[in-house]
Amino acid sequence: MRIVDKIENAKKTLFSFEILPPLKGKSIDSIYKCIDGLYEFEPAFIDVTYHREEYILKKRADGGFDRISTRKRPGTVAICASIQSKYKVDAVPHIICGGFSKEDTENALIDLDFLGIENVLALRGDNLKSESHFTPEPLGNSNALELIHQVKNMNNGIYLDEELGNPTPTSFCIGAACYPEKHQDAPNFKSDLNFLKRKVEAGAEFLTTQMFFDNIKYFDFVAHCREEGISVPIIPGIKPITKRNQLYLLPKIFNSDIPFELSNEIEKAKTDEAVKQIGIEWCIVQCKELKSLGVPVIHFYTMGFAETTKAIAKAIY
Ligand code: FAD
Repeated sequence: MRIVDKIENAKKTLFSFEILPPLKGKSIDSIYKCIDGLYEFEPAFIDVTYHREEYILKKRADGGFDRISTRKRPGTVAICASIQSKYKVDAVPHIICGGFSKEDTENALIDLDFLGIENVLALRGDNLKSESHFTPEPLGNSNALELIHQVKNMNNGIYLDEELGNPTPTSFCIGAACYPEKHQDAPNFKSDLNFLKRKVEAGAEFLTTQMFFDNIKYFDFVAHCREEGISVPIIPGIKPITKRNQLYLLPKIFNSDIPFELSNEIEKAKTDEAVKQIGIEWCIVQCKELKSLGVPVIHFYTMGFAETTKAIAKAIY
């Protein structure tokens, strides 16, 4: 079912979460373990991230190095199909521009359509670690806006090959990412918002936020979006802090500010278990408020582990 229809039909705040494909060579059982741990909360949908290729240097016998491309977490499409068949829960694959030509994207969308996957989250994707800024494939999409145009075209029966006779339209419900605290690449908040509006005008029907730790940031952001005429559902993304070093990593990687009250408590914690507990309690307070103010869905960044999300969901749902 399309995410927007689920939201429209829901009488309460829905529960959803994101998982990462296992590292290459690892079994899919870790995914099932995570889903099994959270299934009792009746997830409305499960997002599956997509990870682009990375380059590693491999030493040759002559002492030189070969630059080898590897995809460390393959399997997004297959995992989505497997989730839908095993759990009868809608899976939302993330589709990215990085590393994909438009033709690769079209072929991936054809696979998803044939597998009965109705929703996608359309993203630019992260930079390669070796790059200071995002570089698209020569024949690829440069940003999420272009990717959304491509999916929307397929929904209108417009494929890349104009010679195709009467192609069957797809019917993907398209989601996109948004950033209550601004995306790093945006020169300012206002231009980020304008760009977001263009993504919605191009066909994004729902938005999922970057993680935030202060609900005011989310509510202010939603108010700004509504003022700009962005009226689609905005799904808050929540991440429990589980390790002390995340205090420094998360703001750097995701541009998400950590409130002093939370960082101060975590700094004072004596054990790893205590850090985890503080993270859980903080999220429970966040989620109770989000739910009481009627957000459509609370979406959890599980990082592939059910335990902390389960503790929060138990207190909320
Ligand atoms: P875009 O919307 O294309 O651009 C990001 C920002 O750049 C915009 O907000 C805008 O301010 C600016 N910008 C870009 N182009 C223009 C333009 N033409 N004009 C003006 N401004 C412009 N990454 C992965 O690799 N795999 C995943 O599975 C994944 N899942 C994610 C899920 C969520 C919910 C979120 C929030 C992020 C996820 N990411 C993932 C990270 C995401 O790929 C990065 O944040 C990336 O840097 C931006 O992606 P985007 O789709 O928001 O980009």
